[in-house]
Amino acid sequence: MTDISADLLAEILDEVRDDTSGELVPHLGDYEHPSPDALALAVCDMDGQITSAGDDELLFDLQSASKPFVYALALDQKGVDEVADRIGVEPSGEAFNEISLEEGTGRAPNALVNAGALAAHALVGDADDDEESRFEQIRGLFTRLVGREVEVDEEIVEIESRSANRNQALAHLLAEAGSLARDPHEVVSGYSHQCAIRVDSRELAHMAAVLANRGQALGSDEQIVGHRAARYANSVMFTCGMYDAAGDWVYQVGLPAKSGVSGCLFAVVPGRLGVAAFSPRLDGHGNSVRAAAAIEELSDRLHLHVLDEV
Ligand code: GLN
Repeated sequence: MTDISADLLAEILDEVRDDTSGELVPHLGDYEHPSPDALALAVCDMDGQITSAGDDELLFDLQSASKPFVYALALDQKGVDEVADRIGVEPSGEAFNEISLEEGTGRAPNALVNAGALAAHALVGDADDDEESRFEQIRGLFTRLVGREVEVDEEIVEIESRSANRNQALAHLLAEAGSLARDPHEVVSGYSHQCAIRVDSRELAHMAAVLANRGQALGSDEQIVGHRAARYANSVMFTCGMYDAAGDWVYQVGLPAKSGVSGCLFAVVPGRLGVAAFSPRLDGHGNSVRAAAAIEELSDRLHLHVLDEV
């Protein structure tokens, strides 16, 4: 049981509320954001008990917050060696959609930049599974993580598909280097659908708690992702989850975390908590300004930094 109260979470939100710096989803062009001022914070303990504050039931797209989970699914399905042939585990120190692969190997640098996320997406499913059945495996994963049938935001898929030149370029580059298991067009389409899966902050905290619980469902012994896959996903989140701000994040906050350009952000407190925050405006790295500030404040107040005892 957690002793974190909704009042504490509300207090933290009040502390970060006035910071309206940052930009809304830059890659979506003139898309009119339905809730630019939304702000939410949620935590989920290992019993599945969720405490939250703010706009905690507002749905948002997972975007890059989907990446560690699909990476874990690829690890479960294909094993570590096959995944490692295509995706490395080193921070790239570059922007999330940088057009660059690992020198020498042609692998994606890691699973949390777009190149690696495309490669991980392509690894899901058997050789003869079509795009739809592969996507159903991915949607099924998020449905199990959330405990409700998740849906895709078709408007976002439509807008992203019209402006997917960078991801198309990355997918073709990966295919050329032998690091993509499938047709690049199919992979970019499936990946756009994966990014547009919608959850709310309470659900994202629950998903994070599964990664904090060795990949196991909360309150049952169902393994949603394998223990080892969860550990690898957490490891890569620790070093690469905040893109080229990852070093600063580990230093200040000290938790594996993953952001999405919708403004969501989740963090994993191993064996204790899943944490999620949502606020749409992003800093120059593509991380939510206020979601990051709220989780930093929570980590600070509750001494959640994984190296706090040292
Ligand atoms: N759909 C976005 C993209 O591929 C996801 C990026 C993100 O959340 N950082 O560009």
